[in-house]
Amino acid sequence: MKGNRRRETRIVHAGSHPEKFRGAMNPPVYRASTIVFPTVEAMREANKNRFDTTYYGRHGTPTSFALEEAMADLDDGYRSVAVCSGLAAITVALMAFVKSGDHVLMADTVYDPSRRVAQFLAGCGVETTFYDPTIGAGIATLVQPNTKVVFTESPGSLTFEVQDVPAIAKVAHAHGAKVLLDNTWAAGHFFKPFDHGVDVSIQAATKYIAGHADVMIGLVTAKTEDDWRAVKTQSAIMGYCAGPDECYLTLRGLKTLDMRMERHQETGLLLANWLAARPEVATVLHPALQSCPGHDIWKRDFTGSSGLFSIVLKDVPAARVEAMLDGMSIFAMGFSWGGFESLMIPANPTSIRTATKWQAAGPLLRLHAGQEDPDDLIADLEAGFARLNGAA
Ligand SMILES: *Cc1c(COP(=O)(O)O)cnc(C)c1O
Repeated sequence: MKGNRRRETRIVHAGSHPEKFRGAMNPPVYRASTIVFPTVEAMREANKNRFDTTYYGRHGTPTSFALEEAMADLDDGYRSVAVCSGLAAITVALMAFVKSGDHVLMADTVYDPSRRVAQFLAGCGVETTFYDPTIGAGIATLVQPNTKVVFTESPGSLTFEVQDVPAIAKVAHAHGAKVLLDNTWAAGHFFKPFDHGVDVSIQAATKYIAGHADVMIGLVTAKTEDDWRAVKTQSAIMGYCAGPDECYLTLRGLKTLDMRMERHQETGLLLANWLAARPEVATVLHPALQSCPGHDIWKRDFTGSSGLFSIVLKDVPAARVEAMLDGMSIFAMGFSWGGFESLMIPANPTSIRTATKWQAAGPLLRLHAGQEDPDDLIADLEAGFARLNGAA
C-alpha cells in the first residue's frame, strides 16, 4: 500500500486487507492462544515462520499483524512490533541491542520510567550515561568504545527540549551505535524518524495513536529487517505481546490520527500563546514557541506540534497552585495524555535529572490540549489563575 500514494490515502488503507476477511475493511479481533495444525509438517512450517504467520497467540495474530503493518507503513519503516505498553516498547527495544559490558547514552530528559529501565540494566552489567538534551554533535565526547545505543526522546519529557537527532545519529553511527527514539510526542505524525537518522522508533501508542484514553499499548518500528528481527526476537524471549482488542482499537485510532493531531496542534498553540501573555507565567515550554530550547531544530525537523507542553509559573506558594489545580472544571488531573480530554498536572523535574540542573522561576505545570472548545478551556484557565492569585 505504499507506492507514491500520499499519507492521507495510506493512513486510510494501511493494514486493511478486505480480501483476507470476507470483504471487511477492518481485521477481526482474533482472540487466540492455541493455534492448531493439521499435520506435523504444517506445525514445523509454522514454527519456521512464526513471526509471519499464526503459530501461537503470543507471537501475533492477524489483528496484531495488521496494526504492525499499518504503523510501519506510516513511519516508512521495515516493520513494527506491538507490545503491551509504551514502557514495554522501551524495555524491549533497549534490551534488543545491549548485553553485559555494553554502554548506553540516554537523554537526561527522558520519560522518567525509561531511567528505571536503565537502572535495571545496570544490574545486568549495562552502564548508562545521561546526556544534556541540547548536546547535539557534542555527544561525541561521551561515546565510549562499548557504546551500543543512544536513547533519545525529543522533545524531552516535561520540559520539551528539542534534540538535534540528526547530529546525534551521525556521531552514533560513526561509532556503530544504534539510535533509539521515543517518538511519542510527535505521534507518528509530526516527525519522520527514519529521515532523521533514527534506527528504531518507539511509540507509547497508549497516547495519541490509540487516542481515546482506553488502551495500553506500545509499538516499536525498525528501519531495517535486521533491527526489526532483533526487537521481535527480544519481545518473544520476554513474552511480550499486545492483546487483540488493544490492537484493534489502536488500528481504529490510527485512521483518525491525522485529523485529531491537527486539532490538538491548533488548540495547543492557541493555549500556549494565550498562556505566554499571562502575567502569572514565567515561561511556556512548547517546541513551536521561540522560548523553548531547541525551537530552531524543531522548525527544521518537525512538521508541527502536538497538544502536550508545559508552563513555568512565576514563584508562587504551593498552596495557591493547589487551589488552582483542585478547582479546574474541564482540565483533569491524571497521568498519560493523548486522549480526547484536556489534562493538567504539576511536575518537578529537579529530583529526576542528573546530567543537567533544572532551575526555574517557579512551579511547572504540564498541559495536554484536548478536543474541547478552546474558549471553554481558556475560561477554565482564567478561573484557575484567579484562584492562583488568591481569589475565592
Ligand atoms: C506514557 C509514555 C510512555 C509509556 O507508555 P505507557 O503505555 O504508559 O507504558 C513512554 N514514553 C513517553 C514519552 C510517554 O509519555
